[in-house]
Amino acid sequence: MNTLTDTISNGDKILEFSYLLAAIFFVIGLKLLSHPESARKGNLWAAAGMLLAMITTMFLHREGTPLVRIPSGNLAIILVAIVVGSVVGAVIARRVKMTAMPQLVSLFNASGGAASALVALIEFSNPDNQSALVTLLGLVIGAIAFSGSMIAFGKLNGNIKDIFAGWMSYVNLLFMAAVVAGVVFLMVTNAPVETQQVMVYALLGIALIYGVTFVMPIGGADMPVVISLLNSLTGIAAAMAGFIYQNQAMILGGIFVGAAGMILTLLMCKAMNRSLLNVIIGAFGGGGAASDREAGTVKEVSVTDAAVLLSYSSKVVIVPGYGLAVAQAQHVCNEMGKLLEANGVEVKYAIHPVAGRMPGHMNVLLAEADVPYDKLVEMDEINPDMPNTDVVVVIGANDVVNPASLDDPSSPIYGMPIIKAHEAKNIIVMKRGMGKGYAAIENFLFYNEKTRMLFGNAKDSLQKLVAEIKSL
Ligand code: NDP
Repeated sequence: MNTLTDTISNGDKILEFSYLLAAIFFVIGLKLLSHPESARKGNLWAAAGMLLAMITTMFLHREGTPLVRIPSGNLAIILVAIVVGSVVGAVIARRVKMTAMPQLVSLFNASGGAASALVALIEFSNPDNQSALVTLLGLVIGAIAFSGSMIAFGKLNGNIKDIFAGWMSYVNLLFMAAVVAGVVFLMVTNAPVETQQVMVYALLGIALIYGVTFVMPIGGADMPVVISLLNSLTGIAAAMAGFIYQNQAMILGGIFVGAAGMILTLLMCKAMNRSLLNVIIGAFGGGGAASDREAGTVKEVSVTDAAVLLSYSSKVVIVPGYGLAVAQAQHVCNEMGKLLEANGVEVKYAIHPVAGRMPGHMNVLLAEADVPYDKLVEMDEINPDMPNTDVVVVIGANDVVNPASLDDPSSPIYGMPIIKAHEAKNIIVMKRGMGKGYAAIENFLFYNEKTRMLFGNAKDSLQKLVAEIKSL
């Protein structure tokens, strides 16, 4: 008997120590993830922590006494699930295009939310489960994260359009109130177990619908806030699932994701000049009257003229956007930057917090092309410099340089801070045609007196520009 007790306590100690180690690995990982140069290592540290926690849980976890390890039959199922999941994950991660990363992240968020909701659903009817509130919170938060992330996936993939009507804010509030009421009811009710189980399924249904109605009306330019909020919700739901099982590694992992996501959400809100309350109620974006301003005429520039203008400038600012990622033109963009610098031109990259389709998209894209990190300048820092900039080159960016956000109160992006490309002495815009950006609105920068359009796929245009600059 003594031997068994010893085994139990030793196993427990090793398990707890492994969770502590995993937590330290997560923290190191998070720290390294905060810089593009070390982000890859950060991912590996965090993954190693997760692997350690998984292995020790699988072999040392026990429920109650005497020692009950995970039954060997279950272990086989778990291993098969891990192998299948790992293979599918590895194949998807290898194949996914850089421009489809945001959709993939949304799918990851959705799976995390669904997993936590399922854990809560199963454990609600477990008589040994002592944590009803945590279980219900895990259920609703996981369900909202799941259905909301699926809608976000559809929107990012272009399958789902924004549906916005003023009354939707009230519908959202109604569903939110129904979710809260459902949780409170289930906490206080003495109804028979069967009735409670029906109620839990109803609550799950309402939470799933709320996830849909909450994300549906969010307009183009405000999606980044919602994506990071959903990411945070997934983490919180995972932490709740961890509380149900009293599993420290799960609790810590969930809290880290939830906290990191929440910090990012607040930073995004600040960057987009929105309040978090507006995001939760789903009352902004998507709407707004179309501007009835006269567009004016668009002027084009030849590759030769653009090359001359750039080569004889002293200060050039490049504004990368989603189109640069689509064209995969980051390498040739860096080549052009280096060429200009060799000619004595000062080159900087202006980074808008929501350029592209995921937080940090442009940083990752340019880091991939080895653009030195000190050349990337945040929006707030570069804007005061714009009037002294000889040429601003907007490459595949649209919404993040749209001056309607400053001077058109009827615009859906009114109030969103932008990179003030319109204040530069000359503006060159590279894009394929007059296509709109994610927010699907007109951009009067393209009709500005100082703007010259260089039409074409960004990679082709940049390649021609590089060749021309070399030949000067
Ligand atoms: P936009 O989506 O506003 O514009 C991209 C532009 O790139 C388009 O107008 C398109 O014009 C052009 N383009 C597309 N393909 C190419 C190509 N191959 N070569 C050259 N040009 C191309 O991009 P921004 O980065 O300016 O703004 C990002 C938008 O996405 C914001 O509204 C933001 O809120 C939203 N968003 C951001 C997220 C984030 O986390 N960062 C998440 C979700 C949404 P044309 O067709 O004429 O070539």
